[in-house]
Amino acid sequence: MAEDCIFCKIVNGDIPSRKVYEDDKVLAFDDINPMAPVHVIIIPKQHIPTLLDIDPDHADIMGDILSAVREVSAIKGIDQKGFRTVINCNEEGGQVIFHLHMHLLGGTRLRDDLG
Ligand code: 5GP
Ligand code: ZN
Repeated sequence: MAEDCIFCKIVNGDIPSRKVYEDDKVLAFDDINPMAPVHVIIIPKQHIPTLLDIDPDHADIMGDILSAVREVSAIKGIDQKGFRTVINCNEEGGQVIFHLHMHLLGGTRLRDDLG
């Protein structure tokens, strides 16, 4: 738990969210400002600031997140139609919340521009 981290507060229930999936390591919830009909944020419950902060102490976390991708895409009914996953890293990558998270986007044909 990091003080003043919005996503830690969501994990703790201090900020409400629309939960899509949860297990002991990972939480997934609807993005508050969706960029597509389906836009889910998947986070480790543990506070890890960025993709670059995954060290051997939490080496399994990407596997846990990818397992959640399978669950979330099926729950949202877009696993067969298709979807996109994105992890923004640091300022020029567009990261705004510094608690590691994967965006899962779908429910429409996504545009190809990456900004
Ligand atoms: P980033 O730009 O850091 O990769 O993405 C952060 C994402 O978190 C954004 O898509 C933003 O809409 C979402 N977000 C920010 N604050 C909240 C919140 O309080 N609740 C939810 N559900 N999503 C949030
Ligand atoms: Zn956090």
